Amino acid sequence: MLTKQQLDLLREKLDKTLIDIKEELGEVEDDKGEVKVTEFGSDTESSEDLPEEADEAEELATNIAISSGLKDRLENVQEALRKMDKETYGKCESCGKDIPIEVLEVNPESRHCAECNKKEERV
Ligand SMILES: [Zn+2]
Repeated sequence: MLTKQQLDLLREKLDKTLIDIKEELGEVEDDKGEVKVTEFGSDTESSEDLPEEADEAEELATNIAISSGLKDRLENVQEALRKMDKETYGKCESCGKDIPIEVLEVNPESRHCAECNKKEERV
């Protein structure tokens, strides 16, 4: 079982992670939540030979991958916070065992214990 102190600390971490993720998402998405092409380096006109459209398509693909990865993490973090409210936080979703505090400290949004994580990776 986690102590209140440990929980408070982990919640703080999760809150910070949430803000970080949203900031990162803001860099690859516009206000409507659509993935955009970030226009860095558009001032340099040295790469005139390169077809700009191909560049943009590639960058869009990269940003879509980043955005979907961030959204997965965001979901995990939000789920962890919800579980804190319901006091089911820190339990493995597969086997119901307590997730060790050492794991949660590194990765507060963990949903599974190390054993079940290993099992999932193998699948
Ligand atoms: Zn487990």
